[in-house]
Amino acid sequence: MNLSSETLAADIEAELPEAIARGREAARDGALADYIPELGNADAEVVGIAVATLDGRVFSAGEAAAPFTIQSVSKVFSLACVLRGGDDGLYPERVSVEPSGDEFHSITRLEEERGRPRNPIINAGAIAVTGRVAGSTPEQRIETLRGFLSDAYGEGAPDFPLDDAVYRSECRTGFRNRALANFMQHHGTVDDAGDAVDAYFRQCSLLVDARALARLGLFLANGGVHPCTGAELLSPFHNRVVVATMMTCGLYDEVGHFAISVGIPAKSGVSGGILAVLPGRMSIASYGPALGPKGNSLAGMTMLEYLSQRLRLSLFEPER
Ligand code: GLN
Repeated sequence: MNLSSETLAADIEAELPEAIARGREAARDGALADYIPELGNADAEVVGIAVATLDGRVFSAGEAAAPFTIQSVSKVFSLACVLRGGDDGLYPERVSVEPSGDEFHSITRLEEERGRPRNPIINAGAIAVTGRVAGSTPEQRIETLRGFLSDAYGEGAPDFPLDDAVYRSECRTGFRNRALANFMQHHGTVDDAGDAVDAYFRQCSLLVDARALARLGLFLANGGVHPCTGAELLSPFHNRVVVATMMTCGLYDEVGHFAISVGIPAKSGVSGGILAVLPGRMSIASYGPALGPKGNSLAGMTMLEYLSQRLRLSLFEPER
């Protein structure tokens, strides 16, 4: 353990309580996502944050052990999982990598661009990616993804169980996602719309907590290699594809604002999680289900902005 990592650890620990206090304050102005009805039953006051550093330590504050469904944050891992499997037909042939500027479940550009999603982490792109996770049924694809998550976590990985109530709730109401998948099958981007969308609903319903999620992001912050186990989860190039896509597309149509205020590649989800990965330094996961108008966690965005400023984490700050 060198002095600089000890100093960083002390600085992180010193700042987390204030980050949580600000996150709780910000959450008061937010609203739960309830277009998936089961998500409307979350406790809007829960706020947690965890920071994992490359030496494998995890620092946390607030309700960092509160479980939540991973939702769109999973898109980062399904993309990584498919890229690790060597799916060269994915990028850039089937899915582009440009920010969409649209809502996460938009269909508009998909029509203009003949079924080729703008990027792999809007819903359309993510459904296309999940349809290419190895397996011949949705259940098998999720087992492949769980295996990837387990390697990404490292020793002592949780089981990543499925929240059945959230899964069934999304199956009952996810007509828009089905429309995206059907439209993509029409254009040949997706081979089997029903299979892809079911696997996607399952993937979004896997349970994590902020501490586990922060650990899951460590390989992304470390060029594709797990800093503790040494496992190579992604090649340096594919890791760059994933992390750069987080930076340019990870917070939907609020990504520009987030780049300025936080300046760290990140991915958000409608259950209120955000995963932010700072290359060469750390992975941060936040949870707070009260969302702002663009569908991003208000507590999470506030806490990340606070930590970014206090610890000088922004990629766009020369003082790093
Ligand atoms: N399962 C959600 C959906 O497809 C995920 C969206 C999100 O987290 N932004 O609507």
